[in-house]
Amino acid sequence: MDDQKDRFGDKIHDLEKVREDQWAREQDRLLLDKLRARQDAQLHCPRCSAQLVSRSGSESTILACPDGHGAWLEGAALERLGEQTKRARP
Ligand SMILES: [Zn+2]
Repeated sequence: MDDQKDRFGDKIHDLEKVREDQWAREQDRLLLDKLRARQDAQLHCPRCSAQLVSRSGSESTILACPDGHGAWLEGAALERLGEQTKRARP
């Protein structure tokens, strides 16, 4: 009887270990998903929610709404654009 109880205890212990392993794997997967999502994050137009499409400029790439609601510029690109505008219109 005692022997059976011990074996049952072992089984539960094994089960818990398996669950912990699964949990750890799940956490790894979630983390990887998060990293991947950040890498190719798709930006969407705040007005129509359309996915922004990239348009390569001479120096930088901008992401623009296909319906022309607006565009996304990286901070550095925006600064460059500001400099260019200042130079163009002193
Ligand atoms: Zn739009």
